[in-house]
Amino acid sequence: MSYLPQRVTSRIEGKILYNEPLRNHTTWRIGGPADVFIEPASRKDIALLLEFARENNQPVTVIGNGSNLLVSDNGLKGVVIKIGDALGHVRIVEEKLIAEAGAKLGRVTAIAQAAGLGGLEFAVGIPASIGGAVTMNAGANGAAMADVVDTVTVMDYQAREHVLSAADLDFGYRTSRLQRLEAVVVEIELRLAPCDPLEIRRRSEEYLRRRRVTQPLDSPSAGSVFKNPPGEAAGRLIELAGAKGLRVGDAVVSEKHANFIINAGKAKSEDVLLLIGRVREMVRDKFGIELELEVKVIGNSGAGWLDAICHQGSKPLAGSD
Ligand SMILES: Cc1cc2nc3c(=O)[nH]c(=O)nc-3n(C[C@H](O)[C@H](O)[C@H](O)COP(=O)(O)OP(=O)(O)OC[C@H]3O[C@@H](n4cnc5c(N)ncnc54)[C@H](O)[C@@H]3O)c2cc1C
Repeated sequence: MSYLPQRVTSRIEGKILYNEPLRNHTTWRIGGPADVFIEPASRKDIALLLEFARENNQPVTVIGNGSNLLVSDNGLKGVVIKIGDALGHVRIVEEKLIAEAGAKLGRVTAIAQAAGLGGLEFAVGIPASIGGAVTMNAGANGAAMADVVDTVTVMDYQAREHVLSAADLDFGYRTSRLQRLEAVVVEIELRLAPCDPLEIRRRSEEYLRRRRVTQPLDSPSAGSVFKNPPGEAAGRLIELAGAKGLRVGDAVVSEKHANFIINAGKAKSEDVLLLIGRVREMVRDKFGIELELEVKVIGNSGAGWLDAICHQGSKPLAGSD
């Protein structure tokens, strides 16, 4: 794809990079180049980019903090829009917290705590943007984003904004309607409850302590690779199937938490995919259970790639949800 024309770049306030390695934007530290990589600084920027992509028939990929993504080493065609810190304004209005989608969850939880608003502390330690967290319905400690979301403002690929209520979002375990819409999440309103900041802090510190004990936080990863099957923990099944420590290239099933695959050096996307395939096979052989991916696999294809994408479903055309 050619560079963006000057008539577009001159109107964009955010950062524009060409052939930007996406490994710089994923917590797995894996991912090839994006033709055009943009971190918008305003909704106007997003609208301009969507218009450009539509007029030039370019694919659009939206990412947040890249903490649930396996991006192909072959990279991504078209325009990658990263909703990051430049769109991360957070404000409190009475008992509501209103955050732009790029705000990091760590910052949002700290602001809620300082304002004496409770209910979000379950999410401390999830290295997400709040837009990604709502899209994934991220959860931990017995709660999930669905419990606190009031409304979500999205911009569809025709650059029209819509305010969706929680009831519109079809939240489920690590899923929401947002994963099936061709739309960019731009703002989220959370409904929180007054609570003693010291109590919020106590709970948050306990959740963080548990994470440090149970998760390999010193190595690049994307958190849990597989969803937990009903009534089961994927990590337990993987461990019992004997897959802990299994390695393909520099991709390794963590010894500390079997549902994490860590990048022990220069892991390639294909290493991770092969390892995912082996773990799945071992669990299927031992328990007859087919593990479903929690991480999202994106990027330019190879054969294994296509297979992994088929296991996670794909987006229908805009409006056909
Ligand atoms: C160490 C570690 C611990 C983790 N712990 C947990 C945990 O406890 N619970 C949990 O649920 N997850 C956990 N995760 C996984 C991950 O943090 C979550 O899935 C998170 O919600 C992803 O947010 P993100 O901003 O990084 O989104 P990304 O990974 O960038 O994107 C995830 C999906 O959301 C879409 N998306 C992102 N932003 C937008 C937007 N603004 N508009 C439209 N679509 C968007 C992307 O297209 C993609 O499909 C963990 C990950 C790591 C590395």
